[in-house]
Amino acid sequence: MNRLAIYEFLRRAASVIAPNFCPFCGRVIAPEEYYCEECFKLLPKIREQPFPPENLRRLYAYCWYTGIARDAVHMLKFGKCYIYPADAFGLLMSEMLTAENACADALVPVPSSVKSIDIRGFAPAAVIAERISIRMNIPVENAIDADFDKIEQKTLTRKSRAINARRCFHISKYADVAGKKLILIDDVTTTGSTLSALAEMLLNAGASEVSAAVFAKVPGEFKKSSAPKLYRKTERKKCLEFLRKM
Ligand SMILES: [Zn+2]
Repeated sequence: MNRLAIYEFLRRAASVIAPNFCPFCGRVIAPEEYYCEECFKLLPKIREQPFPPENLRRLYAYCWYTGIARDAVHMLKFGKCYIYPADAFGLLMSEMLTAENACADALVPVPSSVKSIDIRGFAPAAVIAERISIRMNIPVENAIDADFDKIEQKTLTRKSRAINARRCFHISKYADVAGKKLILIDDVTTTGSTLSALAEMLLNAGASEVSAAVFAKVPGEFKKSSAPKLYRKTERKKCLEFLRKM
């Protein structure tokens, strides 16, 4: 039995104990389903993939971060039943990547801070990456670590997000990315600054190519100026002062 067959078997077995829910509306659905048809029709799907932020070859985004898509992301991040949105996002993103002929040697989840993992008990991008990995048979490479004092990106401006990303993320000493085509995985992208900064780190670590896939994208174009410049040690002091003033 392959990983996908085991995953689907366990999913159906779990529905004997607890009902299966649509993560977009909360309706009970059949054990083999991942969402209801009504919600699938209502999802604000992205028809034309957005121009990617700097350092990324492609950005794949399934839908706009609005309406029921936003509600499901909130359930993933803040709800008690993250499994339902994680399963649905994994399926929908896998179908999108397959339709776009995306190929990669590894999936790299955007890491969460240790603090947020402690609060939630899981990392949202990691649970999505795990499900895409099972469906597409691409390994997960946890190539990036987040420092414990990471400031939540959502509270920051576009400029400070780029600086904060460089301050709070670093390539793991166990990362094996040299010569590999990678796809960064996350639930949502807002300005693209984090994805751009992480892609630059992976390219500097030897990756041959970096793309990114997200479930939802906040409406709006990426600004080219949002891409951060190469971080240098001499800039560290300036960055820290900037963050302190916020
Ligand atoms: Zn539904």
